[in-house]
Amino acid sequence: MGETAEDFVLVINSGSSSIKYQLLDPESSVVAASGIVERIGEDDSVIQHRADGESTERREPIADHTAGLRLVFEMFAATGHDLRREGVRAVGHRVVHGGEVFYRPTLIDDDVAAAISDLSALAPLHNPANLAGIESARALLPDAPQVAVFDTAFFHGLPAAAKTYAIDAKVAAAHGIRKYGFHGTSHEYVSGRVAELLGRDPGELNQIVFHLGNGASASAIRGGRPVDTSMGLTPLEGLVMGTRPGDLDPGIVAHLARSAHLDIDQIDTLLNRDSGIKGLSGVNDFRELRRLIETGDEAARLAYDVYVHRLRRYLGAYLIELGGVDAITFTAGVGENSPQVRADALAGLARFGIEVDPAANAAENRAARRISPPDAPVAVLVVPTNEELAIARAARQVVDRLD
Ligand code: ADP
Repeated sequence: MGETAEDFVLVINSGSSSIKYQLLDPESSVVAASGIVERIGEDDSVIQHRADGESTERREPIADHTAGLRLVFEMFAATGHDLRREGVRAVGHRVVHGGEVFYRPTLIDDDVAAAISDLSALAPLHNPANLAGIESARALLPDAPQVAVFDTAFFHGLPAAAKTYAIDAKVAAAHGIRKYGFHGTSHEYVSGRVAELLGRDPGELNQIVFHLGNGASASAIRGGRPVDTSMGLTPLEGLVMGTRPGDLDPGIVAHLARSAHLDIDQIDTLLNRDSGIKGLSGVNDFRELRRLIETGDEAARLAYDVYVHRLRRYLGAYLIELGGVDAITFTAGVGENSPQVRADALAGLARFGIEVDPAANAAENRAARRISPPDAPVAVLVVPTNEELAIARAARQVVDRLD
């Protein structure tokens, strides 16, 4: 495939100690290779690389993101894709926080990189890690255009009433405090696929999308534009997640500081890493949670009930905000793979036109599909998300405009 490498986009999702990557053709959606580097900075770092249906694993200490990416390029070269020699059409980077500054895919230069760095105050756990991936890729592939695709971009135009927090307006303005929303690339991609699948113009559909992965978020979309979303200034707000609580009484933060004497970093860790399903049950993976529930574990049962309760609260809110809905869609790890969550989230709502067909819901099927009865007024769907493809397409569009 050497001669076609220039049609491919390398997509990089760089986290604090990991790099996920895919090399794909945005037109045909063909994935040439993909993989993940994990535990960067530790002694037991590991890279798993998949190319042409074969998986290779290498374990060795990987000091930092640049060393990680260098190893990624070695793996590519060993499996027939010498990216540093052949080049790529573009590198697309997932960047979590675009703040008020970035609301479309953006070609990265020194100024853009500096601005992404400045936004770290809003996303201290994410933007520095994203930037590490960007800087490494720029150093290793200096001739490839690098494009940042922001998780917040889709929600940039949220209505003022939905994005404004009711706190002192001067404080909010001084510190960029508003609802930004995250998982935007996924919500945009999935809602677009729903319109395609239903054979409808996106402009005439009211949609609710539940992205239920380790992180989880919901969005209300009218005519292709989001009117509300559950994540906020940070990805902590909204639904219950693997390790994050979602909505909380903000008074809890002050109470923890005064009564438990936790400092702000400890509270941040508690809320980002040790809460949610994990905080309530001890595990954060839904498959393990189900196993615990089956053994009669009451804490696991409660965690599940809290999770579903929150989903239904958002569903109710968005139904009313939209004034009725045409399609409700589940995506990401839990949304795509847990018939139980889908059934429980929508149980008993036939009077609102919302029904799930039990056989269609339970069917082992990885394709995008409808799981409501054909004659039900509201279409309920399962649509696999594909953020890498969406990022690759966005990066490709930016680069095409340069030609
Ligand atoms: P991320 O937010 O890390 O991208 P994913 O969308 O990959 O997350 O979702 C990961 C989660 O999906 C896992 O933590 C697990 O809870 C859930 N999951 C994955 N496969 C299944 C399955 N077969 N059944 C139930 N839950 C699953």
